[in-house]
Amino acid sequence: MEQNKNINLNSRYQIPQIGYGVYMIWDYNDCKDAVLEALSCGYRHIDTAQIYKNERAVGAAIRESGIERSEIFVTTKIWISNYGNGKTMSAVAKSLERLDVEYIDLVLLHQPADDYLGAWAELENAVSNKQIRSIGVSNFNSQQIDKLIDFGTIVPAVNQIECHPYLQQVDIKRYLASKQIAVEVWYPLGHGDKGLLNEQLFVKLAEKYHKSPAQIILRWHLEQGHIVFPKSLNPLHIADNIEIYDFQLTASELEQISLLDKQKSYIKYPKWAEKIIFKLADKIPLGDRD
Ligand code: NAD
Repeated sequence: MEQNKNINLNSRYQIPQIGYGVYMIWDYNDCKDAVLEALSCGYRHIDTAQIYKNERAVGAAIRESGIERSEIFVTTKIWISNYGNGKTMSAVAKSLERLDVEYIDLVLLHQPADDYLGAWAELENAVSNKQIRSIGVSNFNSQQIDKLIDFGTIVPAVNQIECHPYLQQVDIKRYLASKQIAVEVWYPLGHGDKGLLNEQLFVKLAEKYHKSPAQIILRWHLEQGHIVFPKSLNPLHIADNIEIYDFQLTASELEQISLLDKQKSYIKYPKWAEKIIFKLADKIPLGDRD
C-alpha cells in the first residue's frame, strides 16, 4: 500500500503530503500528547506557528517520540508583529529555541501584512545561515507573491491557503502551479463544519469505499496534489485522517466534487476587522511561557 507520500518543493526538499496541524491546541500537555499520538500513527510532518503559542509542546513531543529529527518535517510561521527591522531574524532564533531544533524545515510569513518584504529578506538570510531549509508564505494573493518574487532571490516554496470542497481556489492554484509553488491547505475539513462533512455526496462515497466522509474529503485533497494537515484531538480521527492511501476516487467522482465549489470561506470575521483581530491575537499570553 502507498504510504504518506512526499511532495517535491522548489527548494529541492521534500515534504510529507499529510501532516498534523496544531492550531488552537493552546494547552501545553494537550498539544504534546496530541503530537505524540500523531507521530505514533505515522505522521511525520507537523504544522505550527508562532501565534499558535505551542512550539515548545511540539518540540517536546518530537524529542520524547525518539524519532530521528531528520525524519520529521516541521513548519512554523512568523507572526506579523515580527516582520522586518531585524525582528524576523530574532523571531526565527526564538522559534528554533522553543522548538529545540537545529533547523526548521519550513518557515512561512503567516499573513501578507506590514513589512512583508523586509521579513522575506530576513528569512532568505536565515536560509543562508542554514537555520531554515525552505521558506514560503500563507494567505498571499498572486499580486503579493509577484511582488515578493520581484524583490527577493528565493521563490516561495509554498502558499498556505484556505481550501476545501466548498472553496476550491481554482484561480490562485493555477497561478501557483505556473510558479512551481506548492499548495498547502488549511481548513481541509472546513474546520470540522457539519454541513460539509454531512454533504450527501461524501456520505454516499463513504459508504461505497467503507471510509468516513472526512476521509473522502482528505482523499480528494491528495488527488488535487494539496499538502494537508487536518487537526483533531480525537485519537480515532487522528488515525483515520492518515488512513487514506488504500482507495482512489474515480475521475467521475472527482468531477462531481468539483461541482460542489461555492466559494464559501469559513473565516467568520469581516475583512475590515482583520487588523484589529490580528493585533488582539498577538496579545494572548504565551502558552509557550517565554
Ligand atoms: P480542519 O479543517 O482540519 O478541521 C478540524 C476539525 O475537523 C476538528 O477540530 C474536528 O472537529 C474535525 N475533524 C477532524 N478530523 C475529523 C474526522 N476524521 N472526522 C470528523 N471530524 C473530524 O481545520 P483546522 O484544524 O482549523 O485547520 C487545520 C490546520 O491548518 C491547523 O491546525 C493549522 O495547522 C492550519 N491553519 C493555518 C491557517 C493559516 O492562516 N495559515 C489558518 C487556520 C489553520
